[in-house]
Amino acid sequence: AKILITGANGFIASWTVKAFLDAGFSVRGTVRSHAKAEHLASMFRSCGDRFAYVVVPDMTKDGAFDEAVQGIDAIVHTATPTVLTAEDPAELIDPSVQGTVGLMRAASTQPSVKRVVYLSSCATIIARNAEGHQVYDETSWNNDDVREVEEKVRGASQLAKYRASKIFAEKSAWEYYESNKGKLSWDLAVVNPPWVFGPVIHQVGQSLLEGLNASNKVLFGALTQGAYSLPPHCWVDVRDLAQSLVLSVTTPAAGGQRLIVSAGPFVWEELAAAASEVSQKTRPPPPSYDPAQVTYNIVCNNTKTNNVLGMKYRYGIHDMVRDVIQDWEARGWM
Ligand code: NDP
Repeated sequence: AKILITGANGFIASWTVKAFLDAGFSVRGTVRSHAKAEHLASMFRSCGDRFAYVVVPDMTKDGAFDEAVQGIDAIVHTATPTVLTAEDPAELIDPSVQGTVGLMRAASTQPSVKRVVYLSSCATIIARNAEGHQVYDETSWNNDDVREVEEKVRGASQLAKYRASKIFAEKSAWEYYESNKGKLSWDLAVVNPPWVFGPVIHQVGQSLLEGLNASNKVLFGALTQGAYSLPPHCWVDVRDLAQSLVLSVTTPAAGGQRLIVSAGPFVWEELAAAASEVSQKTRPPPPSYDPAQVTYNIVCNNTKTNNVLGMKYRYGIHDMVRDVIQDWEARGWM
C-alpha cells in the first residue's frame, strides 16, 4: 500500500516515513521545496522506489494536493506551521485549517484512499487555564486558547495562537468528515500526542539547535540549562508516536476515533535526573527535587487509545533521555 505523508521533512514526519518504510509500505512525502527533500531522499535511498516525494509549495492554494494524492491508499497529515513568531493568529490558523480541509477534499477525489490520519495534538485536549489535578481523555476539548485568541487576537500569546490553530484544524477535519461521511471512500482517525521528544533524523544544521523542532528545543533548555519554562504534562517518544501512526492506518477500529498517544505524565526534574545519570554535561534537578514526592497535575487517561491500537510503548523516560543526549553529543551540541 502507498501512504502519503505531508510535511515529510519534519521531526515527527521523518520518523513516521521511516516507520512506514520499515513496515514494508511505499511512502510519498510532501515537502515545500526540492531542497527540503534532499536529505530524506538520501536517507531512504536504500528503499529504492518505495520512497518518493512531491513538492507542494503552498498547501493553502486550491488543488494544492491534487497531484500528491494520486493512487494513494492512506494519508498521514502532519504539515502545519509550528513557528512561534506570528503577529496575526491567522498566519497559523489559515494554513493549518486550509491545508487540512484542502487535503481532505483532494483525498475525496481518490477512491483508493481508505484512511486519513490527521496528526493533531494534546493542545486540542488539555485546557491551559485549569488548576489543580486534572485528568483528560479522548472526549476532552481545550477551549482556553480559542478564547484567548478571539479576545486578544494579535495580543494573544504565541502558544495560544499555535494551540488555537491546532484546535481549529482538528475541528475542521471532524466537520469535513462528519458532513461528507456518506460519500467518502475513507474514514478519519485523529492522533493527539502530548510533548513529543526524541533523537532526530530530519535535516538539522551544523550550528547549535539549528533546524531542531520546538519541543526538542524546550527539552534541550530543560536538560542543559535547567529552564523549566513551559508546563510539563504528558510525553511520548517520537519513535513510539511514529509506530502509532502506522497502527492508526492499519487498525480498522481506529476509524472515527480520537487517539491520545502518550507514554505517561512527567515533570522536568524527572527528565533532568535521568539526564544527569548519563551525562556530566547536563543540569541536574534542584536539590529540593525528591522523586518520591513527585505529583503529576495533568494526567491523560488514554486507555481507550491503547486498547484500540494495541499500543506498546517501547521507550521510557530513561531510554528517551539517553538517546537524545547521545544524539546531541554526536552533533556537538553539548
Ligand atoms: P516540525 O517543525 O519539525 O515540522 C513541521 C512540518 O510542517 C515541516 O515539514 C514544515 O515544513 C511543515 N510546515 C510548516 N509550516 C508549513 C506551511 N505553512 N505549509 C506547509 N507545511 C508547513 O514539527 P514537528 O515534527 O514537531 O510537528 C509535526 C506535527 O506534529 C505538527 O502538526 C505538530 O502540530 C504536531 N505535534 C507536535 C508535537 C511536538 O511536541 N513536537 C506535539 C503535538 C503535536 P518546512 O520545513 O518547509 O517549514
